[in-house]
Amino acid sequence: MLFFERDIAIDLGTSNVRFYIRGRGISLREPTVVAVDKEHGNLLRVGDDASKMLGRTPANIAAIHPIKAGVISDYDMTARMLKELIARVTSFSLFKPRVAVCVPSSITGVEERAIIDATIEAGARRVYLMETAVATAMGAGIDIAKPDGHMVIDIGGGTSEVAVVSLGGVVECESIKTAGGEFDEAIIRYIRRKHSVLIGARAAEDLKINIGCVFPRQEISFADVKGRNLVTGMPRTVTLSSEDMIEAFSEPAERILETIHMVLERTPPELVADVSENGIVMSGGGSLIWGIDKLISSRTGIPAIVVDDALSCTSYGAGKMLQRLNDMEDGMINIARRRQMKG
Ligand code: ADP
Ligand code: MG
Repeated sequence: MLFFERDIAIDLGTSNVRFYIRGRGISLREPTVVAVDKEHGNLLRVGDDASKMLGRTPANIAAIHPIKAGVISDYDMTARMLKELIARVTSFSLFKPRVAVCVPSSITGVEERAIIDATIEAGARRVYLMETAVATAMGAGIDIAKPDGHMVIDIGGGTSEVAVVSLGGVVECESIKTAGGEFDEAIIRYIRRKHSVLIGARAAEDLKINIGCVFPRQEISFADVKGRNLVTGMPRTVTLSSEDMIEAFSEPAERILETIHMVLERTPPELVADVSENGIVMSGGGSLIWGIDKLISSRTGIPAIVVDDALSCTSYGAGKMLQRLNDMEDGMINIARRRQMKG
């Protein structure tokens, strides 16, 4: 039993990090943020506690997002964050865990190396890499071993990934930096342009979650937001509707649609036929924006469905993959595609 407990699958997202522990399920979920003391470089807080400091930090404390677009942007902070989190979940174990980490398919060799080294430094005995799209498909209950094409779209905080999976691997994929965070920024730009009011990132995210919308809906909803009037410098409240959101979001939504088209164009015709039959599976927090599945269905003619637990689907899938760890090589990632690329 102890043997199982030491296997961990980490979904290291730009916004959130999730740990799935074999035999226990998802045991930890924290925002991917660390707070550091600028003067001495000490790690002060990790996750939720650090996130609360965002935008409110005194001059001597910096809140850092160590992962950008699914890959490490601050090596040292990533290693220290992982160390702290791994220690939290393995406090009763004397042994170092085996750790599988989800990575974007677009990852480079250097970025792969950085993830492996940081995870070893954080206390892992062995590190395995798995493609996020494959883990997400597993989490959605797709039998990935079959020669049957499925399209998986993951819209996270910093990247959206559109992938076609078949035979246990990613056949075609494309990553773009248009994801949840870009939708927040689109709201900020929109309110600035229309009302000359500047709102904060938190307020923009709240608007996105509460009235965000990319497709016409029957009941229009409204929300108030407070910001700073850029003309007078004084606080001002603006009321926005879900219709405003459609306008604000048109740019990032179009970019995601273009990416889907691009991937479909590059996908072999047999697999495109599979995808149009099987539909598109969507996950990640960004896929919770109202109507994004409807928009994609209407524009591609392919049914799109958001998975049940969009925020944890990848983590569940990665957890399922832990059962196969014994068959995997250290540092392995989609060997099939690597061979294709070399050959
Ligand atoms: P990552 O895997 O990159 O860490 P997640 O899948 O955890 O990202 O998604 C985080 C993103 O999802 C954030 O941009 C967040 O604002 C957004 N998000 C979370 N819940 C919702 C929701 N209910 N509606 C719209 N966006 C959401
Ligand atoms: Mg993710």
